[in-house]
Amino acid sequence: MESPVIAIRKAAAIAKINIHKLRGNISVLEGSGGNITVLTGHDGKVLVDAGISRPQVEDALASLSDEPVKHLINSHWHFDHTDGNEWLHSLGAEITAHENTRKHLSISTRVNDWNFTFPPVPTGALPTKLITTDQTLHLNETTLVLKCYGPSHTDSDISIQFQEANVIAVADTLWNGHYPFVDYSTGGNIDGMIRAAEANVANANDETIVIPGHGPIGNKFQLIEFRDMLVAIREKIADLKRHGKSLDETVAAKPTADYDAKWGCFVIDGDFFTRLVYAGV
Ligand SMILES: [Zn+2]
Repeated sequence: MESPVIAIRKAAAIAKINIHKLRGNISVLEGSGGNITVLTGHDGKVLVDAGISRPQVEDALASLSDEPVKHLINSHWHFDHTDGNEWLHSLGAEITAHENTRKHLSISTRVNDWNFTFPPVPTGALPTKLITTDQTLHLNETTLVLKCYGPSHTDSDISIQFQEANVIAVADTLWNGHYPFVDYSTGGNIDGMIRAAEANVANANDETIVIPGHGPIGNKFQLIEFRDMLVAIREKIADLKRHGKSLDETVAAKPTADYDAKWGCFVIDGDFFTRLVYAGV
């Protein structure tokens, strides 16, 4: 099996970027790995996540405004959010992330579920402003609140709230309309994903714009739908495991069948998601 990492990098190399202008000088670039959030202004662009493919991302950024990228925040360590770190840093961006993002990028990291071992990244790609607790930044007349989720999708996930605009980037704790990956190899687990999903629901109101790690820009209703899907599937799989079903028997029982048409059409299908949940209950 070709690693999904290789397939996703190949796709990103030829992908077209879609630009979504939200509000408060906030835009989203969609199409190069995870969604990239961009805040423009006289302090220089602030990015949440770096995407994969330089040429397309560079062109899209230039089309938004003339300022250079001064700040890059990594929502977590995964390649589809950090592959662009090195070139963005080389053009002057300071990189902020959870300290576990730097830890995983610094060393050779195996992700069994992707059948891939990531080598350590070059020094210039490493975050240098590290956080372990919630932080508030003031840039481009905007209050940015960075919150650490604790172990959920990985052990390095942070959300970035743009307070005045009521916009929140929730990292890969939301795959809007898709089953999420859960990275047990670097501290993620299904119950942490559910806790993060609960926190996201609690943090949003009816006007909040929610930027997921993957999938279209969403809202509170979709945070609730995603949370409810995670909880329901977790309960079904936990019940099968409690009754002594093996992993293969649980997959064969198709516990996600009612959800697959809606959620199972992206990177993670129902069988794969069943395996991910089974590992954590
Ligand atoms: Zn991820």
